[in-house]
Amino acid sequence: MPIRFGAIADDFTGATDLAALLSRSGWPVSLRLGLPNPDDEPVAPFEIIALKIRTIPVEKAVEKALAAAQWLEQAGAKRFYWKYCSTFDSTPKGNIGPVSEALMQRLGASQTIYCPAFPENGRSVFMGHLFVGEQPLDESPMKDHPLTPMRDSSLVRLLSPQVSSPVGLANRLVVAKGVQALRERLDTLKTEGVLHVVVDAVADDDLTVTAEATMGFRLVTGGSALAMPLPKLLADAGELSGSRGQETQVRVGEGQLVLSGSCSAMTRRQVARYLPAAKSHRLDPLALAEQGVEPALDWLRDIPIEEAKLIYATAEPDEVRHYQQALGVEKSGALVEEALARIAQEAAKLGISRFVVAGGETSGAVVNALGVRQLSIGKEIAPGVPWTFTNSGDRTIALALKSGNFGAEDFFAQALSLLEAS
Ligand code: ADP
Repeated sequence: MPIRFGAIADDFTGATDLAALLSRSGWPVSLRLGLPNPDDEPVAPFEIIALKIRTIPVEKAVEKALAAAQWLEQAGAKRFYWKYCSTFDSTPKGNIGPVSEALMQRLGASQTIYCPAFPENGRSVFMGHLFVGEQPLDESPMKDHPLTPMRDSSLVRLLSPQVSSPVGLANRLVVAKGVQALRERLDTLKTEGVLHVVVDAVADDDLTVTAEATMGFRLVTGGSALAMPLPKLLADAGELSGSRGQETQVRVGEGQLVLSGSCSAMTRRQVARYLPAAKSHRLDPLALAEQGVEPALDWLRDIPIEEAKLIYATAEPDEVRHYQQALGVEKSGALVEEALARIAQEAAKLGISRFVVAGGETSGAVVNALGVRQLSIGKEIAPGVPWTFTNSGDRTIALALKSGNFGAEDFFAQALSLLEAS
């Protein structure tokens, strides 16, 4: 099946989010975790490569993104997409801007756009400012993120220090006028030397206009929702061949475990909601530094695999600050990620087949530890969060990989019950 669309995502949950929205179209979507081997064959018209480059040093992020673009290009991709978080998670150094610039150069893209809006999940961009629900980004819980605290809501200001040429804006008033008006605005900006353009979107219709206006672009960047109209646009343009897939039906083994390494506001509520329903074990970064992960593994081994279980490092912002002051930001994060990854390995060894993982970075660490290379996409649990399936030996493992603020308060129970029903 020829590949038309190649996407590079900066973390694993971002990639599953994109996969979920694209697969709503019914066209097959393949999600690869980490760089494919050069001789791996493309299997779907929509190929997504999930990297873990959101918070690594800029040069490394660029190197990996370029290697992913090379595989996608060789596999036949004609259109490229750089997917980052709908809350524009980045620092003044990057990695959103530097990766965009490197991809533009590699792919010969003369201009690109930036649109992280995801209206269905309450992320909108108006006059260049990103909102989470009704709050500007810098007043939302993202201001306290452990790795990428977002202290400004202006995407133009956030992006400017990350790229080497001016950043412009195509605002909602232009987008509301339609495809032609947006194309003209982008062309005008290009003649003025503006190669990086933030595009407003407050509703799905704005995204459809923007996706259509940029159909001729070699590279588009944004959150997942901007890619949602693409399957239809590509099909209408006669660019998709083959048949639409059926929803993946799979038999998953027993045993369930919720692993939470996200400290985002919604995850904190999800953990609180699930605690009374499950046996739980809390990871304390200071204790991890002193005693390692063995006590958590012992705890896990003692609980029958069919019981509901939750292992979490999720903590309130002041507690996180306390751990970060004691251990350093990177060290405390790494200790938790490594612990949850090791716990996931042990759980798989114990026969647990159903995993719900909260946290983008955390999910990346867990799938790496489980040696997962490729996932098929199943039912959507919440907007942008599907069940995903991978083969491990003679059984199928199911993974729900949720980034911080996604899902409703009862997400953990909801996800597991959806799997029971399938
Ligand atoms: P989200 O999707 O909410 O951003 P991530 O997993 O991407 O979640 O990021 C959360 C980061 O915070 C991870 O690196 C994780 O290891 C770290 N972390 C989790 N719990 C704690 C804690 N109690 N103290 C310090 N850091 C923590």
